[in-house]
Amino acid sequence: VIEIANLTKSFGALQVLKGVDLSVQKGQVIAIIGPSGSGKTTLLRCINFLEEYDGGSVRIDGVEVGFSETNGKRRRRSERELAHIRVDAAMVFQQFNLFPHLTAAQNIMLGLVKSRGKSKAEARSIAEKWLGRVGLSAKVDAMPGQLSGGQQQRVGIARAVAMEPKVLLLDEITSALDPELVGEVLGVVRELATEGRTMILVTHEMAFAREVADRVVFTDQGKIVIDAPPALVFGEQPNERLRAFLARFA
Ligand code: ATP
Repeated sequence: VIEIANLTKSFGALQVLKGVDLSVQKGQVIAIIGPSGSGKTTLLRCINFLEEYDGGSVRIDGVEVGFSETNGKRRRRSERELAHIRVDAAMVFQQFNLFPHLTAAQNIMLGLVKSRGKSKAEARSIAEKWLGRVGLSAKVDAMPGQLSGGQQQRVGIARAVAMEPKVLLLDEITSALDPELVGEVLGVVRELATEGRTMILVTHEMAFAREVADRVVFTDQGKIVIDAPPALVFGEQPNERLRAFLARFA
């Protein structure tokens, strides 16, 4: 589904991604781990071009996300084209990013109507279905401000999966939650993983990464240092930097 090749990105003088290659097959769950500032979030945001990359490419089903080429000329995609691509690579954010003035159902319906061309009635019924799936049938018409953090994040996940994206991008989605609310959100992700959805998640939850990921990617200083099955990454393993990083979670 996703092919990332030699991706580079700088913020001013700071080079955050220094040539990243990553490919993800349909149905795979990839967990990205690594020290703070190693470029995990930036990498995720480049995949749906929320962050514009400087060099290299990101392709989803063969289509480059940020640029198109006509007659050999490379052109940055229009916001309209990008909006469509972002639906195929839907993102769930650390801070939920729900629209505060819309109900849970309306938050989900918005994209379905605008970007997927659903009627309001269809969108409403899809929203209800997904809110049910994340255990929030009773909160369909609640405003985000009336929900706990864990409930808001479950709405955030429902909003992303309702679009039936080709890949789901999850950016530290439990980091802003009180510890007692983390489990309910991870439970939803666990279920999505077992359904064969393609997901890339940036996480500091090592036990969870180990449990759900098909591959764990360790980033350090703007590069992918290790890309391997969890058993290898969390087992006896020889990489000094990874060992030092994991020791902090022990
Ligand atoms: P964390 O685990 O702390 O979230 P991360 O691995 O996700 O870290 P990124 O958020 O990708 O790291 O950030 C990588 C580096 O890029 C950091 O040094 C950060 O300060 C810098 N950075 C990120 N976004 C911007 C921006 N919009 N402008 C300038 N610098 C930025």
